[in-house]
Amino acid sequence: MIPKVRRPRTRRMITLEVRANTAPSPAFRTVTLGGPGLAEFEPAGDDQAVRLFFPRAGQDRLRMPTLDNEGWMAELLVMPKSRRPWVRNYTIRRARPGEIDIEFALHDGDAPAAEWARRARPGDPAGVFDLGVSYLPPPGVPWQLLAGDESALPAILAILENAADDLVAEVFLEVPSAADVREVEAPPGVRVHWLPRPEPGRPGALALATIREAGLPSGPGYAWVAGEAALATGVRRHLVRDRGWPKADIAFLGYWRHGRAAPG
Ligand SMILES: Cc1cc2nc3c(=O)[nH]c(=O)nc-3n(C[C@H](O)[C@H](O)[C@H](O)COP(=O)(O)OP(=O)(O)OC[C@H]3O[C@@H](n4cnc5c(N)ncnc54)[C@H](O)[C@@H]3O)c2cc1C
Repeated sequence: MIPKVRRPRTRRMITLEVRANTAPSPAFRTVTLGGPGLAEFEPAGDDQAVRLFFPRAGQDRLRMPTLDNEGWMAELLVMPKSRRPWVRNYTIRRARPGEIDIEFALHDGDAPAAEWARRARPGDPAGVFDLGVSYLPPPGVPWQLLAGDESALPAILAILENAADDLVAEVFLEVPSAADVREVEAPPGVRVHWLPRPEPGRPGALALATIREAGLPSGPGYAWVAGEAALATGVRRHLVRDRGWPKADIAFLGYWRHGRAAPG
């Protein structure tokens, strides 16, 4: 299923600057962005995501696309690489007046966004373009399954912090190590199952195996699953084939692909 998305009513290419860069735990960096351009950004909460633009190594400044619609991609592709910025997808972890936080899962490999997050300093430029929200549980759904690897941790924590007091949910969160487990602000009906990987391995495999064996509430629910593509598709397949879930009750989002760089 193509995930359903609630797009913002209007959106703009917005140029911001780094205000702070902190490490909430060993495998993450929180980069705070701010600037007057945020007056044109409407925080929506939950898993609201953005296209994040940042300069390539050696570029003297950030050159943002000028089109405030999907035409920006074509515009980017015709820019010579010497001027073209990197673009990746990220979640708005928190929004405050004049500032937003983005939380990066650090990882190895030739990875421009993870590398940028390690090095970002106050004053560095970055741009955002709103992508909207895909966590769209139907009203009155009795319980929810939320699952993800570290790339989806910012979205899941934002969803839980935003949730109504009567949310009932089983949450499976795989993280690189026990040092990345955190206190969670969530309603009392939420059970969070932290899944630190016992040793370096393919992200998502532990969460998928755990969910397959988990005792879950019976009866209809809503599932939101994001992370490495095999986790998202694997959980969906399991819920549909082994637990009889209707496909329409599952939002599954392949946030990244093992061994493959994001386009852009
Ligand atoms: C809607 C949406 C929201 C997202 N929100 C977040 C977020 O808030 N925080 C976050 O950290 N990520 C988030 N992601 C995932 C992020 O966009 C990808 O991980 C992205 O590929 C990272 O770019 P990069 O330049 O670091 O690595 P790339 O250049 O894309 O990839 C380089 C190599 O690293 C591998 N790789 C990519 N991502 C990971 C990873 N997370 N762990 C291990 N290996 C990886 C690739 O397979 C490839 O081999 C989101 C994705 C989507 C679609």
